[in-house]
Amino acid sequence: MQAALLRRSAAIPRVKVVGGGLAGLSAAVALGSVGFQVDLHESRPFLGGRATSFPLDPSDPDSERIDNCQHVLLRCFTNLLDFYERIGVADKITFYDRFHYVRPGGAVDVLKRGWLPAPLHLAGSLLHFRALDLSDKWSVIRGLLALWRDADRTDLEAITMGSWLRSERATDTSYQRFWRPILVSALNEEPDRAAASWAFQVFLDGMMADSTSYEMGVPSVPLSELYSSGKRLAPSVRTHTRSTIERIDPGSNEADFYICALPFERAASVLPDLDLRLDRFEHSPITGIHLWYDRPITELPHAVLLDRTLQWIFRKSDTYVQAVVSASRSLTGLARGRIIELACKEIREFFPAAKTAKLMRSHVIKEVRATYSSRPGLQADRPGSETKHRNLFLAGDWTNTGWPPTMEGAVRSGYRAAECVCRTAGFDAAFLRKRPDTSINTTTATREAAAPRRFRVKSPSGRLEQQLYDTR
Ligand SMILES: Cc1cc2nc3c(=O)[nH]c(=O)nc-3n(C[C@H](O)[C@H](O)[C@H](O)COP(=O)(O)OP(=O)(O)OC[C@H]3O[C@@H](n4cnc5c(N)ncnc54)[C@H](O)[C@@H]3O)c2cc1C
Repeated sequence: MQAALLRRSAAIPRVKVVGGGLAGLSAAVALGSVGFQVDLHESRPFLGGRATSFPLDPSDPDSERIDNCQHVLLRCFTNLLDFYERIGVADKITFYDRFHYVRPGGAVDVLKRGWLPAPLHLAGSLLHFRALDLSDKWSVIRGLLALWRDADRTDLEAITMGSWLRSERATDTSYQRFWRPILVSALNEEPDRAAASWAFQVFLDGMMADSTSYEMGVPSVPLSELYSSGKRLAPSVRTHTRSTIERIDPGSNEADFYICALPFERAASVLPDLDLRLDRFEHSPITGIHLWYDRPITELPHAVLLDRTLQWIFRKSDTYVQAVVSASRSLTGLARGRIIELACKEIREFFPAAKTAKLMRSHVIKEVRATYSSRPGLQADRPGSETKHRNLFLAGDWTNTGWPPTMEGAVRSGYRAAECVCRTAGFDAAFLRKRPDTSINTTTATREAAAPRRFRVKSPSGRLEQQLYDTR
């Protein structure tokens, strides 16, 4: 096998990537950018995997496209943003520096950066939160300080965030109106089911790492347009949609390297001889509820909804809003009509203008297999990129990315698998990016200038080095 690989490396190495979600796409784009010949196979007719959109009327390709569910990112999703830059769509992400928290009845609190430096940048707005009384605010402050105190605890992966919060005597209201809304949407899991380690990461690396890391990015176009409206993925990447791969055989002659970027429930059957311990993985659902009214119901671009079933709402146009429920187990058994009724009733509570608006159209998307559930004790079962086959690598948000199941985790896994391919091919490439140092006064331009070079290449052979180039 090794001899065959070396022989072929005199020519451009060929990589077969299976799975056209963000993990597979990012691996393909990274490898394509340094000259590998990449074939990307995706079973569906479109790219993007779980972060995608489709025509409302499948018989009419020109009909309106809607996302399976609103996907958002945080400024600290450094690798996802790098991927968007590589494919030329970074300008299609709009960042917001404030979150609106709406209570039934319509009262709004705003979480935003103040003049204090990180990690206190959100403290001022929190103190003004009318949804929390003084004892709740004190409980939040105590909890946030305790995150730092406990950050090095070694048992955080073994306990739930809910149990940690109870041990810190979080008040019920601070749990329901502060901790839970942030965590359930960031982790797609209830704090009572999610490992505390990931919840700590959401706050310490996400919300509080620096004064911009909490900013929320929302794509301004349907998700699928991100992958089709950008520059070509890379000159040497060929995409094959509607191409389902039943088995990956790393000993075959189809390619020099293989990357399996499938969701965990598919990986085992495509790679039967790998000893993947997947029996403890389970899914957590997300439900997206799309509602078209005859008139605007809110001016807010997006809002966190408190104390009810709906958790977020996004205004997609003047008259189209999308509501999101993460970890939506309570909805998966409900008929779509009941879900729409419930959503409309709650929206009338939050946005009085909806009381006089007429619902023109609606659509519910239940993603029952949205992500794996980041339960305690699962980390040991998340495999790394490498496998027992030296030319076969794993990627996907469920692999050991150091992140919970997110778009950032998926891209990290893709970049890491791409680095492994490069290393095995005999040279060194670094695609993974750390978040550059930022501060409130740093402009986007200087932040980017401070970022490290996209990749560096050290080829021992010289010959291969000539075939490596940056496409940008
Ligand atoms: C409703 C919903 C909302 C979400 N919201 C957010 C959010 O706001 N922010 C965030 O960061 N993350 C969010 N996520 C999570 C995020 O979408 C995923 O973590 C990420 O997209 C996973 O990417 P992936 O490449 O690992 O897997 P996938 O996207 O699942 O990609 C795997 C691909 O493999 C393909 N495939 C399967 N079998 C085969 C086969 N045999 N041959 C070829 N191809 C095959 C699939 O069709 C799929 O395209 C959300 C997920 C869902 C479902």
